[in-house]
This record gives sequence, C-alpha cells and structure tokens, in this order.
Amino acid sequence: MATTNLDRQPEVPPRAAAPARERAHPPAASRLAGLSGEGALDVLSRARELEAQGRRVAHLEIGEPQFAPAPHIVEAAQRALAEGDARYGPPSGLPALRGAIVDALAHRGVSASAENVLVTPGAKTAVFYSILATVNAGDEVLLPDPGFPIYASMTRFVGGTPVGYALDATRAFAPDIDDIASKITARTRVICLNAPHNPTGGTVSQRDLERIAELALEHDLLVVTDEIYGRIVFDDARGFTPSIASIPGLLDRTILVDGFSKAYAMTGYRLGYAVLPSWLVERAIVLAVNGHTCTPPFVQRAGIAALTGPQSSVHAMVAELKRRRDLIVAKLRGVPGLRCAAPAGAFYAFPDVSDALRSSGLTIKQLADRLLTERGVALLPGSGFGPGGASGLRISFAGVAADVATGIDAVADFFTALAA
Ligand code: PMP
Repeated sequence: MATTNLDRQPEVPPRAAAPARERAHPPAASRLAGLSGEGALDVLSRARELEAQGRRVAHLEIGEPQFAPAPHIVEAAQRALAEGDARYGPPSGLPALRGAIVDALAHRGVSASAENVLVTPGAKTAVFYSILATVNAGDEVLLPDPGFPIYASMTRFVGGTPVGYALDATRAFAPDIDDIASKITARTRVICLNAPHNPTGGTVSQRDLERIAELALEHDLLVVTDEIYGRIVFDDARGFTPSIASIPGLLDRTILVDGFSKAYAMTGYRLGYAVLPSWLVERAIVLAVNGHTCTPPFVQRAGIAALTGPQSSVHAMVAELKRRRDLIVAKLRGVPGLRCAAPAGAFYAFPDVSDALRSSGLTIKQLADRLLTERGVALLPGSGFGPGGASGLRISFAGVAADVATGIDAVADFFTALAA
C-alpha cells in the first residue's frame, strides 16, 4: 500500500474509552478523529484577537472575494424570499437551476444533462457527498499535495487513505502526471483534481488532462474534479480552465464539483453542485435527502440569476484579480531568495521561501506567525495544505484592495530584512 504522511492523524487523537463508570459522558464516534479543519479559520481568529487589542492586520489569509455579488443576484434572492420561495424544494435542485448549470457547462465543452446535476449547499458539501458516495474503507484517494485540506480529511473520515501527488513547481504547479502514475495501486479508487488550484493558483493543460484521463481509463478510476475556481483564470483567452469531464469517455467516471462562492462572490449564500455519472446520481440524491433535504430555493433563484444574467461583474473581478496578481508576482520576485510562480488562476500566490527557512532556522508556521505578530500580515503556512506545502506561504489576494497592497509591501519588506 502506498504510504503518505497526508495519512497522519489530525488534531483530535482518539481517546481510549475509559470504563463506563469513570466516564463523565459517553464517547464520540471514533471516525470523528479522522477529521481535520482548515488552517485559514485558525489564523483568522488569531488575527481577530490582535485586532481586538487595537492592532491593524492585513487579511491575506481567507479565500473569500471581498467583492459584492452583482445587484441582480441579490435582487433575485430578495424577490424569491418576498414571494415565499422558502419551502422544501426538490432534493436534486430546482429544474431551472439544473438547466442553467448544464448550459453553463456546455460553454466549457462539458455536455452533461440536467438529470445528472445535484445542487448542494456549497461546493464543500458536493465534495463531501462525492467522497461518501465513492470511497470504501481501505480505498486510496490520490489528491494534490499541497491541496485543499478537506479532501484528505474527508477521505480519512470514510476510512480511506489519502495519497498525495506532487505539483510541478517548474510548470507553475501543474499536476505532476508521472508522480500520479507512480502512485496508482490496486487500491486506488479516486483521483482528485483541483484546477485552478488552492493553494497555488496552478492550472492544468488539456494535454495533461488527456494523460490523466488515460490513467483513469486504464486503471478503472473515478475522477473528482473540483472546478470551483474554473472561471477565475488570467492567461487563458477562453475564460475558463479545461475540464476533464469534456474528454470523451470520462463523463461516466467523473464527478464535477463547482459552485457560486468564488466567481460570483456568493460565499455566504452556500450554493454549489456536483455533476455525477448516470449510474451514481440517483443514489447521491438519496444521500442528499439524508443529509440536507434540499438547498434553499431562494438561494437557488439567486444562482439562476447569476448564471443567466449579465456576467460583467465576473469579468470585472477577474480583471482586478489579474492586476493584483501581476503586482504581487513582480513585488515578490524582487525579494532576494524568494521564488514565486505566477498563479494562472484562483486568487492565491504561493511563494517558495525555502531560502528564508534555511537561513533563519524557523519553521514555515513560525515564519507565518512572525509575519502576523511583527508585521500585521495574516497569511497561511503552506504546511496546512499537506507536507508538500511546507516551504510555501499562501497569500490570498481576493481581500480588500488596501489590505493586499499594504500586506504585500510588508511581506516583501520582512523577507528583504530577513535576507539581510
Ligand atoms: N474547493 C476548494 C478548492 C476551495 O478552496 C473551497 C473554498 N475555500 C471550496 C471547495 C468550498 O467552496 P464552497 O464555499 O462552495 O463550499
């Protein structure tokens, strides 16, 4: 069996059950021990503590666009609520939203049908259900390392084994296909893809997707592709990242996950979806009935407005993010010892600070900590995204513009001083 330290047990170690009479309360289910949270939320609460003491903090930690959703989206939700559209709806989602999702996917070359769409309260729920629906105890799940920590957490939760694959830093963090191929075993069940990628902003080429598709077909694997940042791309004239689901023969072994949080700045609406193969979708809908019954209808009406209304807010946000990306990369590349690939999508830069780690003797967590306490910049140590992230810092540039500007200056200043 492939081994990986992604398989490490997280924060809550399982406790040996004490004899019943000595216990203050009954034990929790042991599977909870497999779960881990998200580092971003921990850093945010530390930053808030400092702010409560009167310190100014530039927030570069949270992956949430500080842009307002377009007015027609807000109005659609308000109208739906005023009309009383707040009762139970179909578990799979409103037909009009499922249809709009299918139309939007057709623009990306994915020809799904509405019956294959399951609308969920956020993309995260769609990831959760995808793993619950496909991974058995003992199965291995290949996931990007560094990567969104929830994939490994969920895999452990269901008794599976997370196996990290590398990203190629010399190719702007594209998936390392040779590494993926070398880690496939008889137990591998799922390959998890995420492009554009959290935490590096890397994307994936059509050619790489074709190679991954060949591996999936050859080894009879499922693919879970998390395309939540799919429309936030800076160097691709088409305005989206190619999807593995558009490759002939792949739709029947792919679960495509997407949502409205990032491109439409609708994080708090909690709206996402999964497109599932026909042989799986009915059971996944039953899973949704067990888990959340339905996604709030008035939220789905906002989603219909987002997909079918004007897209100018998306384009304006992506243009502003690209401007910030260019500025950040130029600034960080000017700092001695820092290496920074230009993120092609999402809204994260992931500079490599190996030189600073070596010369200072600090860990990546200590570096991030010093940036917060000494310079008032909240950002994330890459180690929170898996062992493969241990020499990087995740900088989110989706926040308030002033925070991004002052935060990056402070980061550049900190590393320049450290190098001197
Ligand atoms: N996937 C990735 C890679 C993410 O970064 C996030 C949000 N941080 C999500 C899924 C979850 O998105 P949602 O708000 O739709 O649940």
